[in-house]
Amino acid sequence: MNKYLEQLIELSKLDKEIDDFGPRIAKVEKMLKLSLDKERDLKLQAESFQADIADAKLKKAKNEAHLAELSSKLKDLTKKSALVKTAKEIKALQLEEEISKEQCDFANDEINRLDKIIDLKQTNISGLQEKIAEAVKEAEEIKASIDSQIQAIEEERRNVYQSKDELVVQMSQKILTFYQKIRKWAENTTVVPVKKQACYGCFMRMNDKTYASVLKQDDIVTCPHCGRILYKEIAEEAQA
Ligand SMILES: [Zn+2]
Repeated sequence: MNKYLEQLIELSKLDKEIDDFGPRIAKVEKMLKLSLDKERDLKLQAESFQADIADAKLKKAKNEAHLAELSSKLKDLTKKSALVKTAKEIKALQLEEEISKEQCDFANDEINRLDKIIDLKQTNISGLQEKIAEAVKEAEEIKASIDSQIQAIEEERRNVYQSKDELVVQMSQKILTFYQKIRKWAENTTVVPVKKQACYGCFMRMNDKTYASVLKQDDIVTCPHCGRILYKEIAEEAQA
């Protein structure tokens, strides 16, 4: 086989491997991301419950302050009722007392309602805290396993880069430039096999003359349709 063609096949194989490392690492990292997202969502939910509790406590304090005001008001009304004389004055005081008592009832109902909310949210938070602890543990386990997987991939990547560097220094600059020009658009299908007399980049059938040149492997042959670099597929070689 033509030495340049051999180098081009090898170079395209290495370039494809290099391109595959990114998605491989991303796939592994995605597992961790999903786990961390779950942990974050649970924490946000717990924070939102905490905010609800703080809000309920604030409202409860306001109602309690109001109750204290009403209580001293009722005491004043009791004192006043001992002093008033006319029926009209008595009626007015009674009405005021009724209103204040209603307001007390309302404030007490509110406090009860808010207490229930606080209890419920606190129970929810306890449940969430268990889930958060589980999620943290899970994320840590995934992280440990991912770290070793990524290390292995990184080492493989270093080796492939090294092989590429070693190959590139041996190659002619002219051939390299030719390859890189096609690779700009053809990416990982820059150098493709020919199967059943068709280019495996564009899948178009080639004429007998081009096919014969590909089979000979004496020159670098490009596809007459798309311009990719062609080589004879190994399986066909075995058949021949
Ligand atoms: Zn083609």
